[in-house]
Amino acid sequence: MRAALFEAPGQPLVIGEVEAPQPLPSELLVKVKACGICGTDLHLTGVTDRSGGMAPLSQGTIMGHEFCGEVVEVGAQTRNPAGRNWHEGDRVCALPYIACGHCLNCLAGHGHRCTMASYNGMGSLGGGYADYVRVGGAEALALPAGVDYRAGALVEPLAVGLHAVRVAKLQPGDAVLIVGGGPIGLAVAMWCRFFGARHVVISDLLAGRLDKAAAMGATDGIDASKEDVVGRYKQIAGSRADVIFDCVGVPGSQQLAMDYTPMNGRVVVAGVCMRPDTVMPVKAITKELQVNYVYMYERRDFELALEMLDHERIDASSMITEIVGFDAFSAAFEGLKTPSDQCKILLDPHL
Ligand SMILES: [Zn+2]
Ligand SMILES: [Zn+2]
Repeated sequence: MRAALFEAPGQPLVIGEVEAPQPLPSELLVKVKACGICGTDLHLTGVTDRSGGMAPLSQGTIMGHEFCGEVVEVGAQTRNPAGRNWHEGDRVCALPYIACGHCLNCLAGHGHRCTMASYNGMGSLGGGYADYVRVGGAEALALPAGVDYRAGALVEPLAVGLHAVRVAKLQPGDAVLIVGGGPIGLAVAMWCRFFGARHVVISDLLAGRLDKAAAMGATDGIDASKEDVVGRYKQIAGSRADVIFDCVGVPGSQQLAMDYTPMNGRVVVAGVCMRPDTVMPVKAITKELQVNYVYMYERRDFELALEMLDHERIDASSMITEIVGFDAFSAAFEGLKTPSDQCKILLDPHL
């Protein structure tokens, strides 16, 4: 099969031929129909040591954890938590890991905390930048009839946003500020709007990203390269934001979020910073801020995203800015390393 292979840190991915993966008895083999490029993958290709908290990739790694596709092989012992058996031809997306299924974390529905879990696209378990991917029967979710493969590839980033909004304990009428208008910022905006926030404002240094923000449910945008964010926010909403999401994740962005909050405000850190950072605790202390960190999602986040897509109660299609085949994939991947108006680029192996 074809796959985009990691060669070495800083080097472009190479499209090559490798053997198709063999599913274990508890797994499905899925023919990839679409797979989104994630910022984590961009970051991972530059990792040379463990100082940033993540291990460097080994040569030949196939990344990609935002995939969906068609089941082409069903292991003899697969289990589907939704009740019905898996069949060839089923359309699925999946939690991008395969967990043990019986430890305490797995039983509590937190498979991503399973110490036995392997992650699609990180280690030896390949990801979706390929013709085929192995998926755990217990981690797969059927795509409802109303969810096509392009929307199916957005379920993972939508689940990230949904989990962040759950953790924020968003209340109807809350005033929200989202720092960073990338895919995660947009997903957070969409869910804040969905759950009844009064103001959903995105600030970004790239004004071009703010146009897309409106299509995803943002009520206003702040061009942080030109405008004073707190001043402009007060003009828009009449006060500071009740909840601030850091969807940037670079040194300094957490402090910025803390500076933007009012007394007793809530900060949710969704952007993943993998470099050392400093914050001024006294600012958070004197404001008595609630600061929450979020990581990944749960199965119920995938389920709700799928159901709302199916019922057309959410529409995330404006996140997709380009769909490429293998021919153009490596260049598209490299292009995302430079900040631009691009949002989600999908690989469609059949283009
Ligand atoms: Zn991702
Ligand atoms: Zn487990």
